[in-house]
Amino acid sequence: MWDKRREKIFKHISWKSLKTRIFLIIVLAGIIPCILLENGILNNYEDRAVSVKISDVQTQMKIIADHLLNYNYLQDTSSEVINAELGQISNLYDGRVLIINSNFKIVKDTYGISEGKTMISEEVIQCFKGESTSNYDKQNGYIEITTPIVLSNSASGTDSTGNGEIKGVILTSVSSDSIAATMDILGRKAGILEILISVVIVGGALGAANILVKPFDHLTDAINDIKEGYTEEFAYVPDYVETVHIVDAFNQVLARMKRLDDSRQEFVANVSHELKTPITSVKVLADSLLAQENVPAELYKEFMEDIAEEIDRENKIINDLLALVKMDKTAADLNISVVNINELTEIILKRLRPIARKRDVEVTFESIRQVTAEVDEVKMSLIITNLVENAIKYNKDHGSVKVVLDADHQFFTLEISDTGIGIPEESMEHIYERFYRVDKSHSREIGGTGLGLAITRSAVLMHRGSIKLTSVEQEGTTFLVKIPLNHIAQ
Ligand code: ADP
Repeated sequence: MWDKRREKIFKHISWKSLKTRIFLIIVLAGIIPCILLENGILNNYEDRAVSVKISDVQTQMKIIADHLLNYNYLQDTSSEVINAELGQISNLYDGRVLIINSNFKIVKDTYGISEGKTMISEEVIQCFKGESTSNYDKQNGYIEITTPIVLSNSASGTDSTGNGEIKGVILTSVSSDSIAATMDILGRKAGILEILISVVIVGGALGAANILVKPFDHLTDAINDIKEGYTEEFAYVPDYVETVHIVDAFNQVLARMKRLDDSRQEFVANVSHELKTPITSVKVLADSLLAQENVPAELYKEFMEDIAEEIDRENKIINDLLALVKMDKTAADLNISVVNINELTEIILKRLRPIARKRDVEVTFESIRQVTAEVDEVKMSLIITNLVENAIKYNKDHGSVKVVLDADHQFFTLEISDTGIGIPEESMEHIYERFYRVDKSHSREIGGTGLGLAITRSAVLMHRGSIKLTSVEQEGTTFLVKIPLNHIAQ
């Protein structure tokens, strides 16, 4: 049970989650400065407390140094007054005072254990040069301070600072426990304050992360509603500029999907209708033969010829549909090779001329230059065949078809113009739609399926080319196909 809940919680805590990122950014931006500020204040306090103590002790020791000289204490340590004064001072600071003469010998130790011993340390040597030193040993809890005993205006010489002769050094070790105790109390108080601030920041960050991410949650809910099918429209009013962009893009995808779905439905309806028509004719022809008795052989033959024609038609529709489905695939399916376009056009025209001859349509080919191009030969044949076939089919008797092949350094162009019936203005934008025919019955009569131009356009686009149409009714039509000489991979 707990495992499941934990799993659920951790699933939401992911670095990739916007909520987690907002939360962490606010928490880090809030807590880190807080910790730095607290540590800064505490360290500052400690430095100040130590330096106040040092200057306090140094002032006291300077006074004592004068007293030591007055009482000639460095030679004779029997002075009751000085000893009492030293005892008082070491009690006051909870520390130890050592008096060291110019021979580095300890003449007085308030602890009474090191008298007579020699004391040579870096600090003492430095102090003999005239510089007071101080050293805070935080770990062991004491501050060590040296103070020079200076005999001013001495005739016997001066120290390095030129102020007088240094007769000895006072080495004082004072306890820093009081500073540590204050630091401890302050640290604890700061810690509590820090915890309180952290709780407030974490709470605020959680709230802010939730509020800031909410618009995205609403967006997901709205998308899910569409996905589940509760609604078809995007009924969500976005809060952020970013979510406005997402909603806009999503709406465009929805509209595109709807268009695709509509066209798919229309296509299926068209396909069913087109495939049904020849079958209905076959059925009518067969039924009428069956309904009659003693049907003469000629009638059988005639009806059978009609049936065979309808079957051919059905076959053509199916073949065109298969060609179209192939075109709907990606351009990666292109089988590219270097093709001589002049030769290819000649071969196709040779194949189509007998059909043209039936209606006395003259087909001419003008090759302005030799063209070899990287194309899919089968698909290129389909393009040329469909366009020239249409130019013959939708021509007038004794008309003509002219094919012109030209190229520049980048593209080759094929211009197929006819002197046919032309295409009405309002039909031009629909001409490439699947199953679209200007005159359904005329097209059917001459064996059209309404798929030829759809196949042609797809094949041209797969080659990254373009197709343009100009037409004047009853005068003729011109298709201009432009295709890159070198294949452009997707
Ligand atoms: P179809 O198999 O019917 O010829 P297409 O897709 O090849 O189908 O052509 C669609 C329609 O465009 C044709 O039915 C015809 O009405 C019109 N069309 C195509 N080419 C020409 C042309 N060269 N001249 C006049 N009309 C044309």
